Amino acid sequence: MTTPTTATDAYALLTELILQSRQGNRLKALTNFIPQQALELEPFNYTGSGPSDRFVNVYDRGIIPLDHTKPTWIFLAHHDVVNPAYDNVVDNTGSVSVLLALAHRLRNQVLKTNLVFCYTDAEELASPQLGGARKLAERINAGDFGPQVETINLEVSARGTVVWVNQCDGFLKGDPRFVPVSSPFSDSYSLNFWGVRSSCIGIMTEDDLQAVHQRGFTDTWQLCHSPGDKLEVANREDLNRFVDVLEGLVQE
Ligand SMILES: [Zn+2]
Repeated sequence: MTTPTTATDAYALLTELILQSRQGNRLKALTNFIPQQALELEPFNYTGSGPSDRFVNVYDRGIIPLDHTKPTWIFLAHHDVVNPAYDNVVDNTGSVSVLLALAHRLRNQVLKTNLVFCYTDAEELASPQLGGARKLAERINAGDFGPQVETINLEVSARGTVVWVNQCDGFLKGDPRFVPVSSPFSDSYSLNFWGVRSSCIGIMTEDDLQAVHQRGFTDTWQLCHSPGDKLEVANREDLNRFVDVLEGLVQE
């Protein structure tokens, strides 16, 4: 476990996650930052290729007990990576770090919503059938998280002051505080596929915003799945400003 000061700084969490991931097990590194009493591991395998190819969704449900009179917001970010030899900051360790910091900040606060944090596996298979988002959707559709659920999915967040939302169907779509963009496949597409509302949100630079309007993709997104997707890409102030935005959203 980190010290409380470190645990609310998304950049410090990102640095620590990457250092620990370089030493071996990314999943272990992630679970180190979730309190043990709140941690739930959900193995799944939709590939049919045997137990050696098992995936694991990680849940943090310990913020407040589920109150069925309140809606439930599920924040998610995929924790899997294409190549464990890279830092994978943009895709998607930056987003994971933002959620961990948010969870630590909101712990013990009384809020208008139930909060669940879910770190999904197998997003990189880019398949609604095979990814961890399907498992999450099955549980939402079975009522595990109450009758009124919204999901907020963080993607490709490492730097920039522009907070964007993509075209998937969720409550943040059309919110004038966020810039609408088209973004590549994400767990939000899978959740929509299974009938679950989902907003995909992230940060980008002003240059990235111009690029996504002109070319449909950004230089930062281009780093995904490459050795260039490294710690140096991330910006401490931008990451923590994004945590501020999400904290404000939950508290309003
Ligand atoms: Zn991703």
